[in-house]
Amino acid sequence: MEKGILYLVATPIGNLEDITLRALNVLKEVDIILAEDTRKTLKLLNHFEISKKLISFYRHNEGVKLDYVISLLEEGKNLALVSDAGTPGISDPGEDLVKACIDNKIQIVPIPGAVAFIQGLICSGFDTTRFVFEGFLPMNKRGRRERLASLKEETRTMIFYEAPHKLKYTVDDLLDAFGDDRKVVFARELTKIHEEYLRMTLKEAKAYYEEKEIKGEFVVLVEGKTIDEKANISQESIEDLMKKYLSEGLDKKDAMKKVAKEKGITKSEVYKHLL
Ligand code: SAM
Repeated sequence: MEKGILYLVATPIGNLEDITLRALNVLKEVDIILAEDTRKTLKLLNHFEISKKLISFYRHNEGVKLDYVISLLEEGKNLALVSDAGTPGISDPGEDLVKACIDNKIQIVPIPGAVAFIQGLICSGFDTTRFVFEGFLPMNKRGRRERLASLKEETRTMIFYEAPHKLKYTVDDLLDAFGDDRKVVFARELTKIHEEYLRMTLKEAKAYYEEKEIKGEFVVLVEGKTIDEKANISQESIEDLMKKYLSEGLDKKDAMKKVAKEKGITKSEVYKHLL
């Protein structure tokens, strides 16, 4: 018996017109739709006058439902996976099901459409050639701090998802990690009536969100470290390294030699930095 196909179908992130003709056709033609929230998907389907069997498939039941879903595909059923909004698998369920399909040699077909962070990125004004999508930061404070510490030297544009009730705390954490002057863009309510882009420094953001009631959905984009900032830091770290080696008992000449090797520069460049 021929196996079924799993379609990963992107749905709108606000504006219902952002669904593709292909997505509508696939949703009409599959046997069953796996939905993160069946009520939300039902609204979407009703809007487009599609009537289809729905199975709930969300993060906390993903593991339990995997075997069942795979058995449907093995029987030859074609399935579509949709999330509440945007592209399945992007900060939404899908990843484990895709892995299980690969393990079971079941065909996977993406049906492209909206992804919130891509819309935020292209309107940010930051570098779009090199960027890093970080999704949601870890929930616990320590995990967040560690994740942000690992991004301190990041030169690519950094993109985060955040829930409105946590945005204020996230701004505090971003400020701690990247400093007052780092540029940030809050891409809010993308594709919806109140869509807006707030462009400011992290220091300004802290003041802004202290006053403001935070509503809606946000993509947070932080500019990567610029060359100027990097130059400052590398100078500081040369000094720090020198201090470290001198305190370990090396003489000035040997310490400079070691720092030069570590930083991949010449001894005379170390000397110039220290002057
Ligand atoms: N799968 C979705 C995608 O393709 O972008 C992401 C789902 S994730 C659970 C939800 C997060 O995406 C929100 O907390 C917000 O950060 C971001 N998001 C989704 N829709 C948005 C919108 N219309 N405007 C701004 N951010 C949005």
